[in-house]
Amino acid sequence: MADTPQDGAGQYSPQLWKKVVDAGRYGIMLVAAEPADNPIIYVNPAFVKMTGYPEQEVVGKGYQFLLGEDRYQPVLQELCAALREQRECRVVLRSYRKDGSLFWNELTLEPVPDEAGAVTHFIGILSDITEHTSYAARLTQLASYDPVTQLPNRLLLESLLKQAVARCRRSGHKIALLLLDLDHFKRINDTLGHSLGDALLQAVATRLTNCLRAGDTLGRLGGDEFVVLLEGWQWNEQVAKVARKIQGALAPGLKLEEQEVFVTASIGISLFPKDGDDGLTLLKNADIALYRAKARGRNEFCFYEAEMNARAIERLAMENDLRHSLDRGELELYYQPQLELLHERTLGVEALLRWRHPKHGLVAPAEFVPLAEESGLIVPIGEWVLRTACAQAKTWQEQGLQPLRMAVNLSVAQFEQPDFTRLVARILSDTGLQPDCLELEITESLLMKDVNTTVAVLRTLKEMGVKLAIDDFGTGYSSLNYLKRLPIDRLKIDRSFVQDISIDPDDAAIALAVIAMAHSMNLRVVAEGVETDAQLSFLRLRDCDEMQGYYFSRPLPAGEAKHWLEEHGRRELRREAPEDRLQTVLLVDDDPGILKLLEQVLRRDGYRVLTAANGRAGLELLTGYAVQVVISDLFMPEMNGVEFLKRVRKLYPGAVRIALSGYGELDDLIAMINECAVFKFLAKPIALDALRDALRQAFLWHELHPLQHRLQ
Ligand code: C2E
Ligand code: MG
Ligand code: MG
Repeated sequence: MADTPQDGAGQYSPQLWKKVVDAGRYGIMLVAAEPADNPIIYVNPAFVKMTGYPEQEVVGKGYQFLLGEDRYQPVLQELCAALREQRECRVVLRSYRKDGSLFWNELTLEPVPDEAGAVTHFIGILSDITEHTSYAARLTQLASYDPVTQLPNRLLLESLLKQAVARCRRSGHKIALLLLDLDHFKRINDTLGHSLGDALLQAVATRLTNCLRAGDTLGRLGGDEFVVLLEGWQWNEQVAKVARKIQGALAPGLKLEEQEVFVTASIGISLFPKDGDDGLTLLKNADIALYRAKARGRNEFCFYEAEMNARAIERLAMENDLRHSLDRGELELYYQPQLELLHERTLGVEALLRWRHPKHGLVAPAEFVPLAEESGLIVPIGEWVLRTACAQAKTWQEQGLQPLRMAVNLSVAQFEQPDFTRLVARILSDTGLQPDCLELEITESLLMKDVNTTVAVLRTLKEMGVKLAIDDFGTGYSSLNYLKRLPIDRLKIDRSFVQDISIDPDDAAIALAVIAMAHSMNLRVVAEGVETDAQLSFLRLRDCDEMQGYYFSRPLPAGEAKHWLEEHGRRELRREAPEDRLQTVLLVDDDPGILKLLEQVLRRDGYRVLTAANGRAGLELLTGYAVQVVISDLFMPEMNGVEFLKRVRKLYPGAVRIALSGYGELDDLIAMINECAVFKFLAKPIALDALRDALRQAFLWHELHPLQHRLQ
């Protein structure tokens, strides 16, 4: 039977492909993506015809053999860089046939990724352009200009920069080198496809050209990097103005085949002669400034400063060390328990990454995770974390611990890997961990990316049975509407809101709103960073579901975590609940004599009495008890009575407030009435009968106004 064009699955047969390749006019070679020498694996008959070498003499050799002795061709740099960076490139080379004769060939190199996206081969397409009538002109064009944007390429730019430096050295003029990098271009390119990516670069080139003056130089260094050279300016502010103008010119949306795309650029700026005496130094320093601009957030520009260099070198060394940290076994996971608030029962642990650096000791993730994210190293590191955490969870189960939820933090870059869900499935099956024992913690920043893709990936994970949580909730800007669409199980309230939850009404309000909202969407709420009794009581009274924090345990290495879990995992830790039905009054006064006296009197009257020597202590006590009446002195150091009662009013609107004062300034009295809405004001020295009277009325009032209790 003749070759059928397609099989049942719509695939072309390998034989047919070979025929197509063999019949082509262009020389084709397949090269292995091996960093050392990129050996040729296959060449087609057109290649054999073009070069005069039979296939068996070529296979196994590096393609450089075609260059004969002529090894110092400038474009080789570009070719080597493309191989190293695994990207496509087009170069024109002087090559030599088997008989030694010269031929000019245009080589287009394309990386070939495997299913997982790893580049395994390159395809090289050669065309013999020796006969081309205008080849000399074409060569100059190809060698000096970028084929996509028609702007000067790196080679030409470097030479233009060199000339500019020589010129300005003589004239005493200054040069500004602006290095521009499009933010998130890779993502745009991956989503839109390369041809739209090229169209985008062309549109950017046009916009840049239009906003520069005739004497300025614009070029494309490669990828998404552009360079602008400015001469004839005097003040840095003029350069800053150009940078702002460029950013302004790029801001409006671009229409590419019906899709609207928004591009922003980060810009690093170096100045001649201040930041370097030659072109290469200027480029290097602009690059350092660019890095800084990106670190500040996108769409920023930044001038180079000398001390950046030292930091850049340190950063580079750190990045280099980090690159080896995995092979050298320097990474470790610590585990921090997560508990249910109601019964203080352990439900799970969160895996937290640590780096045991040979020189710097144990390094916290805040110091290296951002670096790993910038460099892409977070992808292999994150995979290691996921695998190690899942394996650990399984091991603990096998050692007899109750099955726990293992929470693992994810970076955006990991999530954006095309086969991320498959990776999770593979790790679960390799380690044997049940999917519902794994929880992935994602951050709000991920939610601000491409909505549809994010939702689709999350749904797939959810269908696999994996649990999902949003970490550091409250620090980003995710819309509630959006949240509704996500298959999320848990929200983690960021530590920054928990820290002052018992004393700062604003933080408390945010936490309460998050809890209420989450519950209305059937999500559970985890409070992060619980350190004190007061925070714990506050959260418990307000229906927060789970918590995690130093109050129970710091993150521990695996061995210690196991001991902790064995000790605390099974039993419930909860102490006796406060006797909430007693009539309770809180007394706050910095005068210990008065505190003692009032406490004795009111105890005898049958009230439960809590005392505090200052406002902060008072607020902390309030978290743990149902208090109906608060009595506070007005004049106290640090937090005065007005401030204290104001906070009580916001945090516990149901608690009836009574103020005590020896001498009253009119201003304070007005504030007390307007801002603290006090129920009664008692003058010192206190008449005990008046106090008893006031208290009775206060409790009665409290009982008669149940609506006021809704936040308690
Ligand atoms: P996170 O996921 O919000 O983790 C909680 C952080 O709060 C941890 O810091 C933990 O040690 C700390 N913490 C917990 N309880 C308390 C407390 O009561 N008081 C205080 N002051 N801190 C508490 P850590 O381990 O330094 O991790 C910092 C961040 O680094 C994590 O924040 C997470 O965003 C990131 N990270 C950690 N491990 C990984 C990882 O494997 N992959 C990725 N992508 N990021 C990770
Ligand atoms: Mg986390
Ligand atoms: Mg967090």
